[in-house]
Amino acid sequence: MKINTKVIHGYPMTDKYTGSSSIPLYQSSTYSQSNIEENYAYIYSRFSNPTRDALSEAICSIENAQFSEVFSSGMAAISAVLLGFSQGDHIVACKSIYGGTFQLMTEFLPRYGISVTFVDATDPKNYADAIQENTKAFYIETPSNPTLQVTDLNAVIGLAKKNNLITVCDNTFMTPLLSDVISLGIDFSINSATKFINGHSDVILGTVATNNAEYAKWLHKSAVAIGSIAAPFDSWLTMRGLKSMAMRVERSSENAQKLAEYLNQHSKVKKVFYPGLVSHPNHQVHMQQSKNGGMVVSFDLGNEKNVKLFLDAIRIPLVAVSLGGIESIISYPKIMSHACIPKEERIAQGVTDGLLRFSVGCEDISDLLADLDNALSTL
Ligand SMILES: *Cc1c(COP(=O)(O)O)cnc(C)c1O
Repeated sequence: MKINTKVIHGYPMTDKYTGSSSIPLYQSSTYSQSNIEENYAYIYSRFSNPTRDALSEAICSIENAQFSEVFSSGMAAISAVLLGFSQGDHIVACKSIYGGTFQLMTEFLPRYGISVTFVDATDPKNYADAIQENTKAFYIETPSNPTLQVTDLNAVIGLAKKNNLITVCDNTFMTPLLSDVISLGIDFSINSATKFINGHSDVILGTVATNNAEYAKWLHKSAVAIGSIAAPFDSWLTMRGLKSMAMRVERSSENAQKLAEYLNQHSKVKKVFYPGLVSHPNHQVHMQQSKNGGMVVSFDLGNEKNVKLFLDAIRIPLVAVSLGGIESIISYPKIMSHACIPKEERIAQGVTDGLLRFSVGCEDISDLLADLDNALSTL
């Protein structure tokens, strides 16, 4: 089954009791047990819920994984994976990492005796050099947010296998449709489904997929014990969003490539960050592990004054945090996602005062380019 078919039919898409064309929203906390001697599939919705289970099957299908668990947010999914480690364990993670994950790794994990070393992930050798006796896992995000730095997945997975380490990949930016990380050998694929999987900026939800039965059991146990499960309605909405995901991802990534090429030749744009551009330093590595450059383009307008002029003039995209909607969304990392990072550290990470991140939506590219053209002419 190819991907456009798979997002619609790659999992049970109708209700087995009624034949309903969409899996119903089972909005219930508990389930009537007609006979206490029998074992029932459904007992209590923190343990399992038919709507959430249906989404979980759909996630397995698009991830090419045997097992998945869906959580109340991307951060809940990341927490569940990271809380699977124990006191004394060590993790090597990419330096350019999602802000919430950074906070979890620096403010929470150390309290449980789990330590993390952050490395520049653009060179796989840095992962190798950071391995200690108690290292248990590599944590990866590629391309990174918001400067779209690329990690060589094959190289890092190879290193992990050689050293008996677990690999965890937050694949929110590429999604399993553009980068099939489970098939590449990643042990845990995490997605903030808030972004491209749901794709309509109306749900917060997270997913983890794996082929390891033992880890899968642990993940389920963790979701039940901590209670960070996805709600039935959010699961239902995400399944609805998922059905159009292949079309959205195709359109958005085509738009993003054109938008990046346009920005790359514009005299008012200082720098463009997009792994789909041949000029990106890791373009070739990225294209070996992904179908295209993805849906997110970052660009530098030089300074804050230009950013303000540009944002005042731009009409179509939402100016907001988050990404992955059917609509284009522009964020200003300096005051949004990276506001809590000290200035020197922020600049060192390439998050300059002129940097904007553009999550490219499914609008007509001619409209997006005309809007950009007009906004850039005010600089
Ligand atoms: C948004 C995001 C998260 C967090 O997901 P939530 O659903 O907001 O909890 C984690 N990683 C990446 C790369 C993200 O973009």
